[in-house]
Amino acid sequence: EKERSLHFIEEIVEADLKAGKHESILTRFPPEPNGYLHIGHAKSIVLNFGLAQKYGGATNLRFDDTNPVTEDTEYVDSIKNDVKWLGYNWVNEFYASDYFDTLYGYAEKLINKGLAYVDESSSEEMAEQKGTPTEPGRRNKFSERSIEENLRIFREMRDGKHPEGSMVLRAKIDMKSSNMLMRDPIIYRIKFAHHHRTGDKWCIYPMYDMAHGQSDSIENITHSVCTLEFVPHRELYDWFIDKLEIFPSKQYEFARLNLTYTVMSKRKLKLLVEEGFVSGWDDPRMPTISGLRRRGYTPKSIRDFCDRIGIAKRDNLIDVSLLEFFIRDHLNKIAERVMVVTDPLKVTVTNVPEGHIEECIIDNNPEDENSGSRLVPFDREIYIEKEDFLEDAPKKFFRLKPGGVVRLKGAYIIECDEVIKDENGEVIELKCHYIENSKSGQDTSGVRTKGVIHWVSQKHHVPAELRVYDRLFKEENVSAYEGDFKDLINENSLEIIKGYAEPSLKEATQDKKYQFMRNGYYVLDDNSTTEKLIFNKTVGLKDSWNK
Ligand code: ATP
Ligand code: MG
Ligand code: MG
Repeated sequence: EKERSLHFIEEIVEADLKAGKHESILTRFPPEPNGYLHIGHAKSIVLNFGLAQKYGGATNLRFDDTNPVTEDTEYVDSIKNDVKWLGYNWVNEFYASDYFDTLYGYAEKLINKGLAYVDESSSEEMAEQKGTPTEPGRRNKFSERSIEENLRIFREMRDGKHPEGSMVLRAKIDMKSSNMLMRDPIIYRIKFAHHHRTGDKWCIYPMYDMAHGQSDSIENITHSVCTLEFVPHRELYDWFIDKLEIFPSKQYEFARLNLTYTVMSKRKLKLLVEEGFVSGWDDPRMPTISGLRRRGYTPKSIRDFCDRIGIAKRDNLIDVSLLEFFIRDHLNKIAERVMVVTDPLKVTVTNVPEGHIEECIIDNNPEDENSGSRLVPFDREIYIEKEDFLEDAPKKFFRLKPGGVVRLKGAYIIECDEVIKDENGEVIELKCHYIENSKSGQDTSGVRTKGVIHWVSQKHHVPAELRVYDRLFKEENVSAYEGDFKDLINENSLEIIKGYAEPSLKEATQDKKYQFMRNGYYVLDDNSTTEKLIFNKTVGLKDSWNK
């Protein structure tokens, strides 16, 4: 694969290493455990872990769990599973909540420096005093409290002496700053909520800006990479590190990934799950890592996609067919080719004796010489696809027609002798004969055919349910829509098709990928059983998108 040029964060890292600013780099991936990871997170994972791999550094997995209300251990487990599945290992598993004591100490340090105060104003008052981007804000009387009084009340807050919403701790920075986030931001609030790790130990919790950069610093993170919406937070990030005199982690921002025909926000994805638009976080239509996995995506295809879209400084919308390109490309190399008929037409091969079974040897994957071959039973009664026969066929139709020949994949050439119809004139069966000495691999018949079609034995096929997916949303740019995003849901995003599969698929396993010949790539679904085989269509053989 060809070398791509460095992206701007790699350039920063190389310059820092060259200047001797750090001996080695340490990055982090900091998910909030309030949902399952999606393909946008994959971009951040590939970036953070990729930087560490490329420059011989390491990456921490840090759960950004400072909001007790929305977080849950179920999400922690799924996140760890997804990061590992993508192919990455973290050096440390940390939790921002492990730093609650340290962060509390930092808050007292700010108070002691005269840089934080307890404010008892209502949120309306605070909002009004804050001003607007064009008008400076102003301080209130609470900002004049003494250090001792601030310490005393802040400790009372910690000890549960004050009700939720009655007061907050604010950093004392600059009410006239052009950056609204610098206008004495709230850094601690009271919340009598049970935390998934610290239980009921705390009833005050730090705000994002009081926790994130400080957590980076506690871990000695050298390059803290986040998405563009945090650009205005950088000034505050640096202010805390400077005033607290702690390790100077640096924040860098890149554009978040947006994909066409989907949403990329845990809040919205959660709504789709809770309101039953999809079967769960891992529904194969979801842009979650677990959904993509169940759909049949490979970790490599996701990593290659993330690498290809690059790291930009401007938000953009990536065409989902690019993601499909990468999975198709990978599956073409690794998928086992098998035969599944979806719309069967019975063919009786009249010169095969009743009860006779002929085993045909079929290569598992012509793209991979180590993939071996398997036996597929051919007998007197088989199914082919209805559309592979045409009674009034145009000249260029190289499949089966009355009096015409076609090759059955891995088996014989057959010739169509008779067309049988029902009372409505619909074709219900073909009578054909196979041509002697025309078996694949040992064909000496001299008969030339242009078409090769797939087939299954009527008696030996196994039934399977095929789940075929379409876009989850009808509109390309879902987030540009002004109304409720749920208006744009495609109600026909799942189609269930009956499949007639060759018998080898009884042994199908989930770690294997399949190409249903002339149809698409499929993977066994999580809910598949030996009694009921279920396959998910990952993607078609060709980009059928603009058809
Ligand atoms: P969401 O809006 O989906 O809830 P988030 O940013 O709140 O996303 P976090 O759990 O905080 O979710 O994200 C963990 C990391 O993944 C952060 O560093 C975040 O910037 C990054 N990330 C999240 N979404 C994207 C995306 N669409 N593209 C790139 N990086 C993303
Ligand atoms: Mg976040
Ligand atoms: Mg979020």
